Amino acid sequence: MVGLFHPWRDTLQDLGVMGLIPAPGPREPPAEKPVRPIVAQSTPEVIQEKSRTPSPDPADPVAFPPPDRVAAAATLADLEAGIQGCLACPLGAGRIRFVFGEGSGASGLMFIGEGPGRDEDLKGRPFVGKAGELLDRMLAAIGLERGQVYIANVVKCRPPDNRTPTGPEAQRCLPYLRRQIELLRPRVIVTLGATPLRELLGVQTGITRVRGQWQRLDMLGGIPVMPTFHPAYVLRQYTQDVRRAVWNDLLAARKWLDGAS
Ligand code: URA
Repeated sequence: MVGLFHPWRDTLQDLGVMGLIPAPGPREPPAEKPVRPIVAQSTPEVIQEKSRTPSPDPADPVAFPPPDRVAAAATLADLEAGIQGCLACPLGAGRIRFVFGEGSGASGLMFIGEGPGRDEDLKGRPFVGKAGELLDRMLAAIGLERGQVYIANVVKCRPPDNRTPTGPEAQRCLPYLRRQIELLRPRVIVTLGATPLRELLGVQTGITRVRGQWQRLDMLGGIPVMPTFHPAYVLRQYTQDVRRAVWNDLLAARKWLDGAS
């Protein structure tokens, strides 16, 4: 951590030096246009074909991974293998790739986002688009690399047009995230945006009011949770205040990891 806490750290220039502020680029990058996989125009035959497609059988353990299989997963790899065929909510049918999560978590830090976007759906990895690039820079600003943390999402399949997952979709996916947390045993969790805070912790208060205030996840004896803005929001609201807020939140998480608080 030496070098992170020098006297100019609060100046904008220094935030840039720390890497939290990306090198000069468009001030407000254009919002990513939702691009859906190219789907053939529906002809009456296709529609008929679709309506003949059987809906997944709730007794099928691949499409509906039973809770005891989730609970029995002894490693993250076991868990991923056991749930990656999930079709238990409507998001499953629309995905290209299942986005389980990744990272060693060796630092003790876990990030939780909302759900995969287009890039993540294509690659099967979390935070690999524009928001992911910013997340990498945010990590570098607190002296960490992606491989040292663990990154997951509330939902593992891309919601159509990158919309927010519905409550039932999120809740259907939540046991997977909770088992990930149990297996990983993170020392600190940073939630990105309102969705993980609402769905995992039940906090309904707006992210603008709650960010920066330690919360506690009632698992494994209590895990400290630092809520901060979602990197996609930071890209849209690219102001000094927003960037500084995220910087402070990540520093607080880092200090906790270092045993300084
Ligand atoms: N946004 C998220 O919340 N998660 C991702 O994996 C990518 C973008």
